[in-house]
Formats: sequence, C-alpha cells, structure tokens
Amino acid sequence: MKVFKFGGASVKDAPAIENLKNILQRYGNEQLVVVISAMGKTTNFLEKVLDAYYHGPENVQPLVAELRTRHETVAAQLMGPDNPFLPHSERLFNLLDEQLRRPVSDNFDYDYDRIVSFGELLSTTLIATYLNTQNIDTQWLDARQVIRTDNTYREGHVDWAVTKKLVGRTISPHFRNRARGVVLTQGFIAGTAENQTTTLGREGSDYSAAILAYTLDAESVTVWKDVSGILNADPKRFSDAVKIDKLTYHETVELAYYGASVIHPKTLKPLHNKQIPLFVKSFFHPEDEGSQITRKADAVDVPSYIIKDNQLLISVSPRDFSIIGVENLSVILDILSRYRIKINLIQNSALTFSVCTDNVPLRLRPCIEALKEEFVVRFNDGIRLATIRHYDAGSERTVLEMFPDDEVLIRQSNRHTLQLVLKTQ
Ligand code: ASP
Ligand code: MG
Repeated sequence: MKVFKFGGASVKDAPAIENLKNILQRYGNEQLVVVISAMGKTTNFLEKVLDAYYHGPENVQPLVAELRTRHETVAAQLMGPDNPFLPHSERLFNLLDEQLRRPVSDNFDYDYDRIVSFGELLSTTLIATYLNTQNIDTQWLDARQVIRTDNTYREGHVDWAVTKKLVGRTISPHFRNRARGVVLTQGFIAGTAENQTTTLGREGSDYSAAILAYTLDAESVTVWKDVSGILNADPKRFSDAVKIDKLTYHETVELAYYGASVIHPKTLKPLHNKQIPLFVKSFFHPEDEGSQITRKADAVDVPSYIIKDNQLLISVSPRDFSIIGVENLSVILDILSRYRIKINLIQNSALTFSVCTDNVPLRLRPCIEALKEEFVVRFNDGIRLATIRHYDAGSERTVLEMFPDDEVLIRQSNRHTLQLVLKTQ
C-alpha cells in the first residue's frame, strides 16, 4: 500500500484535479491511500470567513456564497452542470451554515477547527465524486473518524494507539479483498474522542499522510508538488536552485525545521521510526524521479538557502538588572511554550534573551502581554531570517548581496548551519 499526498496547489482548479486523476491512473494496479488538502488557498479564505464570524457577521454569507460558487464551478467544469457533487455541496454548506449560526465560543481555536476544516471536507468530497465518475474505485473516508487527537485545537496531539485501532477498522478491511483502488481522505483534520473536529497545524496534510503511513505500515509516502522535488532554495528567489536527489530523514527535518517549505517538519518522525521512504515528486512530471528521503544518503554537497520574511525579533530582559540565568530562562520558555510560539532562533546574553519567531500577531499579542508582566520586552519587526545549511563564505556572500540594504542584527553558526537575522530597510 502506498500513501499519496496532494497539497492545495495540486488540486487548485479543474485542470489540476484532472491531472491528479491522470497520476492515479498511472498507479491503477496499486492500493492507494490518498490524502488531500483544501483546494488552492481555501484555508486562507476560510480564515477570512472565521474573521467575519467574529468581527463582521454581515460578511459571512457573501464569503460563504463565494466559497460555494468556487467549488461548484470546478465540479461543473469537471463533470458538467448537473453533477453528483451538487447534493453533497448542498449538504456540506448546510452543515457549514449550521456551524456559523452557533454563537462564537470562548475558545477561538475550537471555533477555528470546526469552521476551517470545511476546506478539506469540500475538496475531498468533490474529488472522490469526480474520481468515481472516471472509473477510479474511490472510497471517501472521514479523517476525523480515523486520526484521533486530544483537544489541543489547531495543533492536535495524535493518540497513536487509538489511531492505529481506527485505521485497522476502516482502511485495512477496505483493502482486504481488493488488490487495487483508492481510499481518499482529508489532510490536516482529525477528531477527538468526543467527536469534535481538530486540526494538526497549518500545512499539516503532510503529517496526516505520515500518520496514516505509519499506522498502516505503508511501503512509501509520495508528496506530489508543483516543484520537481526538494530544492536547495526557493526557485522564485534563486534562479539557479537545484533539486537534491537523495536526502536523509535527518537532513530533511533540519531543512523543514528552519522553514524550507519542503515538507511539514512533523512528517519525518513517524516515517523515520518505521523507515518508510518518502518521495517528493512533481505533479507536472510524474514520470520524473523527484527526491527520495530515506535513512542513508550521501551528504548533501550544495548549500541550502531558507529565507523567511515577516519575522519578529523579541528581546526580553529582567527589570532589575539581574542576569538571564536558568530560572529566568525557564520562566521565559514556559511562557513561550504556553502560547505555542515557534522559535526560529535564540540568542542569549547576560541581560537579554532574544528570540526570532514568525510574526503572527494573533498568537504573539497575548504572549507578549504575559512576558511584560515580569520582564522588559522590546521588539524589532521587519525582520528577515536567512538560514544556510552547509554554508561557506560564498553562500553567505550570496545572501548578503541579495539584500544589500539589510542590516545584520545577529549572526549565528555551527558547523553545518549559519543563520542571519536581518533588519530590512
Ligand atoms: N489546508 C491546510 C493549510 O492550508 C493544510 C495543508 O494544506 O497542508 O494549511
Ligand atoms: Mg499545503
């Protein structure tokens, strides 16, 4: 059994979904578990719906209507005007309406998951319906009934034992008497023991694929992308970006951790633990090799560049001129962990602890308030974080020349990795 994952870009419109069908047909003799994200930028759009639900209820209906039109238009392009997706669309939008008529709760993250999860419910229902019209035997599966998490909304922690049991009761029997076919389910979303919807964090569909592969003992996972594999840099920024053919889990998780948009960092652990190979392939050129991630590979011999814009550099100092010792550090880290702040770089001096993080005001504001209760907090916005894996003098120069007006605030390195915190002008 193989697990495939298609992200938002690979199902963004009708031609993309036809392309997905062509790829599945190439694997017509296989047992496939196919994990799919919301179409295109639907998750961002649903975040707008959620924002309206909280702050501008009059905008909810027009936004939902637009979402519905988008999905029904794609369905009509794929299957004609009078198509079998329409009754499903009616049902799903009634459910979404129901959710949006409930008063907001006192837990934003809970509301987030019950609303934003509709992106994946819509995309997978549409695509499963379409594949069945194309003679691809496809079973739609509700991931919320299979991937069990606790109730940490927006970042559910997987209960592996229960998930394994649920997978064993649903996906395994489906394939027991079938040598081939597709089980198609949602990435990103999961469910609690109380049947509440959770999500696994933005871009979490890769992780969903790994969870299913792990619990199914799948032979491999393939992530289909709009690039030819794992590249050493973002081709939009570096015209000479090259594909890395073979990487270890270790190298890949390092790249993902520093923010390369190759794969969700949580994906690697389950695959590593069961030695399940991961392939990253182009959905434009499915016949090409792509990148292969396994336990052993030659050392990567090109520098990899990861540039993250829109960072915030937060500096925290004790009020009374006491130094940053273990006690202060543990208080600060405890606050950062409570608000689930993702740390991209830490730098410490006698009086100041600095941390570079993604600038997500919604998450940072309450955290900064909490820090301010005990410390002096200063910040720098307009920060860019450049990370170079396997750096040398030339690659450092490349980055500095790329941003000639930036000022280097922090330069931090070990043998493999150099990080530059840059203040943009
Ligand atoms: N649709 C979700 C997101 O955009 C999950 C994913 O694409 O992996 O974050
Ligand atoms: Mg994605």
